[in-house]
This record gives sequence, structure tokens and C-alpha cells, in this order.
Amino acid sequence: MVARIVGHSYDALTTPERLVLLEKLEHETRRLAFPRHELINQVAEQATPEEFGGKLSHALADLLHISRAAAAQRVADAADLGPRRAITGEPLEARLPATAAAQRDGSIGDGHVAVIRQFFDQLPHWVDVETQRCAEQHLAQQAVRFRPEQVRKLADRLTYCLNPDGTFTDTDRARRRSLVLGVQDIDGMSRLSGWLTPEARATLEVVLAKLAAPGMCNADDQTPIVDGTPGEESIKRDTRSANQRNHDGLQAALRATLASGKLGQHNGIPATIVVTTTLEQLESAAGKASTGGGSQLPLSDVIRLASHAHHYLAIFDEATPIGLYHTKRIASTGQRIVLHTKDRGCTAPGCDVPGYLCEVHHVDESASCHTTDVDNLTFACGSHHRLLKPGGWTTRKRANGDTEWIPPPHLDFGPLRGRPRTNTFHHPEKLLGEEGDP
Ligand SMILES: [Zn+2]
Repeated sequence: MVARIVGHSYDALTTPERLVLLEKLEHETRRLAFPRHELINQVAEQATPEEFGGKLSHALADLLHISRAAAAQRVADAADLGPRRAITGEPLEARLPATAAAQRDGSIGDGHVAVIRQFFDQLPHWVDVETQRCAEQHLAQQAVRFRPEQVRKLADRLTYCLNPDGTFTDTDRARRRSLVLGVQDIDGMSRLSGWLTPEARATLEVVLAKLAAPGMCNADDQTPIVDGTPGEESIKRDTRSANQRNHDGLQAALRATLASGKLGQHNGIPATIVVTTTLEQLESAAGKASTGGGSQLPLSDVIRLASHAHHYLAIFDEATPIGLYHTKRIASTGQRIVLHTKDRGCTAPGCDVPGYLCEVHHVDESASCHTTDVDNLTFACGSHHRLLKPGGWTTRKRANGDTEWIPPPHLDFGPLRGRPRTNTFHHPEKLLGEEGDP
């Protein structure tokens, strides 16, 4: 049917006819969300993580070539607006029934749905179920008649009527708390955003009052003052803005936490910044190194980091083959660091989890030789590591050292079928250069 619409010529239509058609097209497009919700909910209810090869939203992102954020949004939309079933198999109505019905007949679109969901995100949890139901019905009715930004105003008014004193509880605040470290921009900078609880704010305030004071932790100083009180001279020299001082103060606080050694171990190595670079880059002091968190660090920063005694830095010559042997079944610190240079992150196809958050998997499970050769180890994130069990997914090493992921025969379908089973996410240079994936 879509093929017919796309192939059609609209040259001969009058303006009123075209407008009628545009309206019809909008309605029909909106209605298509309904079968999508239904299909997603059915897959979520009936299929297992083994079948998707990980999380449902990740599998959807791979299958449809949409971002993981967009895929997660579709799963959440389906949960709120699609038909569901109880564990007993009984059909349940959608969580937002009036909104779902209006979307199903094409009278409201994604913009309206977003406004109504946002209304519920900001509603205190003490509002009773019956009132919530009435509010949802009311908003869905208005959404049929108005544009999303108009419905937004109505929703704000309704929020005020239901909660005129702005009473929020710890539960409401806890639900909203978040800290988002955005992706790295082309110049290496990252946006930090989020919502702090009053307690987190009070804590941050006092840390910044100390470390972000004029003259403190000033990178322009020969020896930045990190404890004690800065003298008049240091304060006078300090030309940073208040926001820049906040940034430097936070960095100093985090560095002190790392240097305290109180964080202990994380995934088998001391909590520390792991940086991978080559001898060549280090000698020329140019280019970018990568961290175990999957980010890029200019060499000038690497060298500055190395000057802090409390960090330790692992540098590898990529040209030199590295083999580490250990008699213990548990991968040693050195082997984990080597995996940071080789795998950089989870090796499951399409997975974006960086090295810091990965577990070490033994590719050859026949542990007859009792050695933990690093060539036999690979990084896997928690959810992918769990797929690797007897009768489930398996891994094997390719000649070039890449790890290949293989589903069990009865699960060889879906988004991964016929696609490369290695992960290029942490190695974008492989997609650009000579090492094409076979
Ligand atoms: Zn993974």
C-alpha cells in the first residue's frame, strides 16, 4: 500500500485536495505506532535475552539501524501505550489507556504523547490512581483538539491544580535524580548535565566553596594550591570565571578521590585511569590516546596525568606482540590492561560498553592447560557475558586476535543473522582503513 502512495503523482491536484491528503497521511502515519507497540510488547514478553543476543532495545537498534536512545524510547512507549498481558496471560489495558486509544485512531501524534508522558514524570507519586486516570483522560481529550505546545500549557496548569503547594517527597526527588555525561565533542570536550537531590547539592556546594574559591586549584599556577588557603598573590593572579573555577574545583575533588586509594579495585584492576597509547605518539607528544572509559585524551593531557604520582599509566608499543602468561584462572592486572589496548570494550557485535565496565571472558573454556593466556581472553559487558554459557552463545578468536560471537544454532536468526559477528564499535579505524571485516 505504501508503495502505491509513494509511486503516485500528485501533480494534478488542487491545493485543497493536497491539504486533505496531507491530513490523511498524518493520521495514517500516527496509527502505525499501534502495531509497533504491540509487536515490541509481544517480543518483550515472549523472547529471551539469548534470542536477541543481549538487551531488547540494543537488538532493535541493530535491526532497524536507529540509535540506542531511540530504540529505548520505542520500548518505553510500547510499555505505556501498547496492549500488554499479565503473567497469567490475561490481556491488560495500556498504562495510558486514553492516550493509547487516541494514538490508535490517529488523532494524536508523538508530540502529544511526549507531553502527556512528561506530565506523569513530574506528577508527585502521592496523587491517587483515580485522579491520575481522570487527568490522563482529560489530557488525551485536549490533545485531539490542540497542538502539542498548547497541550503542554494545559498540562502545566493541571500539574499546578493537582499540586498547588509544590509538595514533593523524597521518593519524587529520588525518581528525578540524574547525572548525564554527554558524548565527547570533536574538540574533546563533554557536556555534563543532570538533576541533583538537595543533599547532593549541599555536598557539592561545600566542596566547591573550598576547591573552587578564587586562587584554589588554578591550572595556570606553577604549583596549584589544593589544600590550605590561597594567599593574596594567588587570588590576584586568578583570572578564571566562577564557572571555570567550579570546573577545576570538581576535577580536583575527583582527582583527590582517585588518589586517596579508597576506591580499591574495580573489575580486577585498581580504580585508576588506564590510558592506551603508542611509543611513537608518546615520543612525539602528539595525537590522542584512548582511556578504558572509551574516551579520547590528547597526549598533552596524558603527559600531565603521568606527572601526578598517584596515577599509573600503562603504555604499549602496538608493534610489539604482547603475550602474558599466568597460572591463575583469574586474569591478572597486567592482562586486563592489555585487554584495554586490544579490545578497548565489550567485543559483542555492536556493543558500546567501554573497558572499565567489562568483565574478562575466557574464550577457550577447555581449561585443560591451566593457563590464562591473554590471547585467550576477551572483554565482555555483564549482559553479554551472561549469554556465554553451556548450550548458549560461544566465542572464538580470529587469526587477527578479534573475538567472534556465535549464537547457538536454534537462535541463529534476527538482527545478527548473516552479519559480521565481531565488534567494530571501539575500533572505528577498522571501518575506515585496510582491515575490513570479512
Ligand atoms: Zn556488551
